[in-house]
Amino acid sequence: MFQRLCERPVVVVGGGAVALRKVSWLLKAGAKVTVIAPSLHAQLALLVAQGAVTQAASVFTPAQLAGAVAVVAATSDAAINAAVSQEARARAIPVNVVDDAQLSTFIFPAIIDRSPLVVAVSSAGAAPVLARRVREQIEALLPGRLGALARFMGRRRLKVQRALGPLARRGFWEKLLAGPAAGEVLRGDAAAAGRSYERELREAQLTAAPRSGSAPLGEVYLIGAGPGDADLLTLRALQLLQQADVILYDRLVSEEILERARRDAERIFVGKESGERGQQERIHELMVTLARAGKRVARLKGGDPFVFGRGGEEIEVLKRHDIPYRVVPGITAALGAAASAAVPLTHRRLAQSVTFVSGHQAAGARTDWRYFADPQHTVVFYMGVQQLAAIVAQLRAAGASAEHPAALIAQATLPQQRVLRAPLCAIAALAVRQRIAPPALLIIGNVAALAPAEGLLELAEAPQALGV
Ligand code: SAH
Repeated sequence: MFQRLCERPVVVVGGGAVALRKVSWLLKAGAKVTVIAPSLHAQLALLVAQGAVTQAASVFTPAQLAGAVAVVAATSDAAINAAVSQEARARAIPVNVVDDAQLSTFIFPAIIDRSPLVVAVSSAGAAPVLARRVREQIEALLPGRLGALARFMGRRRLKVQRALGPLARRGFWEKLLAGPAAGEVLRGDAAAAGRSYERELREAQLTAAPRSGSAPLGEVYLIGAGPGDADLLTLRALQLLQQADVILYDRLVSEEILERARRDAERIFVGKESGERGQQERIHELMVTLARAGKRVARLKGGDPFVFGRGGEEIEVLKRHDIPYRVVPGITAALGAAASAAVPLTHRRLAQSVTFVSGHQAAGARTDWRYFADPQHTVVFYMGVQQLAAIVAQLRAAGASAEHPAALIAQATLPQQRVLRAPLCAIAALAVRQRIAPPALLIIGNVAALAPAEGLLELAEAPQALGV
């Protein structure tokens, strides 16, 4: 039950920090709050001084409850709390006794506030901390602008009621939520949302009862899944993963991340083993076909979709086919690895710039290796494990010293993460010896010397010991 408290009298017995918390909530709901307490918490006193709250007497008497629509007992005296509860119940006034479910007839739930949309979580007083945890989880899932969406719909409710019969109405709203309008409101594009709404409404009026098969045009979400640790997903990635009907995911996307998606979403693995031809085209085709069938498609990629992720090509295809899409950035592997190996990519003294390079393509491309050979410049090589020796040779030829610091970080951010540190001349041999397999990143430059070497790898500091 949600109760309207706006402009209604509520009595709070108690004047400490707990009372203050309840008073704050009540004020937020617009209640006219009267506090009964001999002494007040400084902030409560301030609220009284400002006229936001009234202080009645210092001791509780039953007569003070007259006219109240709710009562809160928040004193540290159990006997007073019990008396307040008893008097309130005798008058059929809802009462909350802080931390006492038995004496309460209502509770303050943990809430997720997207006003006018509010989600309340309660454990019936059994486990408030658990309720708060659940609250946090829901909080993370609900887009920040959900309230705007509720207002958008609220403002149009009457008009839709007049335009459509009861049966068509529900279908209309569902279609609106599934279509582009909802996404447009959530990303703050009210004008576009208004146009989408008008279009949907006209169509709904034309087809008095919605035709079957008139699925709304789907959407594609190009989502960066981050470097591996599921906690490094962005809130938006999580939200869209909860909405998506189909998930097209890559090899680098872990099971743990997929588990954060909607349970009943269809999952399609579209990972490329290197050298496999035509797979990218198949992905394009799938995205287009699914979106045309009205599906919300999450195209989930490791790291960031626009960093060695072919996201650029995918949105070109979507644009060409007029399919609405959104791009959600992810934490790219270089940033994830840098953070979890404590290697700052730039550093006031050690490195003033950073470059991300594809180890795959660097060899052939128009790459200026002389620039990379400067240790004041950090270079992060993606997809470089197999080419390590070739990369090192190129760097050396461009003038990098044998001692140029290097670090190799495999499976970054995951429990099986490994970090190797060695001078440039030793890193390739060390990687072979330590059986480092992709996915891994090579970081070179002064900052790489800050990487913590795995205990037994101190050897790496002395290249001779490794026979290189
Ligand atoms: N779009 C991705 C990169 C895809 S290319 C991103 O932004 O991170 C694939 C390469 O990324 C791998 O070969 C490896 O070099 C790197 N990579 C991805 N995840 C990684 C991880 N957890 N640890 C180390 N390197 C990773």
